[in-house]
Amino acid sequence: MPFIAVVRFCVAALVLAAAHATPSLAADQVKSPRLYALDCGRVDFSNMGLFSDTGEYDGKRGSLVVACFVIRHPKGILVWDTGLGDKLAENKSGVDLPGGFHMSMPVTLAEQLKAMGLAPADVTAVAFSHFHFDHTGNANMFPESTWIINKAELPWALAEPTPSGVDPSTFSGYKTAKTQMIDNDYDVFGDGNVMILKAPGHTPGHQVLLLKLNRAGTVILSGDLYHTRDNRRYRRVPAFNYERANTLASIDRIEKIIANTKGHLVVQHDPVDFKALPKFPAYLE
Ligand SMILES: [Zn+2]
Repeated sequence: MPFIAVVRFCVAALVLAAAHATPSLAADQVKSPRLYALDCGRVDFSNMGLFSDTGEYDGKRGSLVVACFVIRHPKGILVWDTGLGDKLAENKSGVDLPGGFHMSMPVTLAEQLKAMGLAPADVTAVAFSHFHFDHTGNANMFPESTWIINKAELPWALAEPTPSGVDPSTFSGYKTAKTQMIDNDYDVFGDGNVMILKAPGHTPGHQVLLLKLNRAGTVILSGDLYHTRDNRRYRRVPAFNYERANTLASIDRIEKIIANTKGHLVVQHDPVDFKALPKFPAYLE
């Protein structure tokens, strides 16, 4: 199995803003951007030691959630991170993996999209915080979408031997899909409201997603800039990050943007942050 050693995860808390029931609307019927947080699995660790290279979690148990996000914008629909693969849900009790972790997926991404009235083909674009397997699991569900891919990330993820935590079979669809290669910040819909921001360190092409929402204001989805709220609070760097110095530089940049925009960071893997988001099918706007 490809899922060797690692997994990485993140966290933060979404304070407030408006949750509404979901009518299912086509993208062009949405007047302002909406953020939907989808449950894309969970990973339980017998030892969280990997999540800090300074020893604070050694021997301690912990759990992380895996989130996927759908952003509905007047100009289209973006999926940000695709979670653990839906096939994992076939095993109701989840799967144990070497290294002392257990992965499970109570509900599939496909089911959740369907509940929103969406088919994968309705998704305009798919983008990834990075190419670890818990973010690319369902990437191949979107062969008709434009894949927005970081130029530094792809060659790293395709290198031999395969980097720990990467499963190239999960994102093989890039070979035939329409792609938009990027190497810096990227404005997804051209109006500044959905911006991919370069934040390398966890992996070479790691990035976060900044959203400007009408009611909730600036919201940043962390990718794996942090895996837990504590990692943010104490600036802890996972032992398996690609590069420590770049991680800290990215933390510095993103935290300044959060401060300057009075923004809110969602640590994607943190159960508390995920729970604080409107529960699907409600959304943030
Ligand atoms: Zn992750």
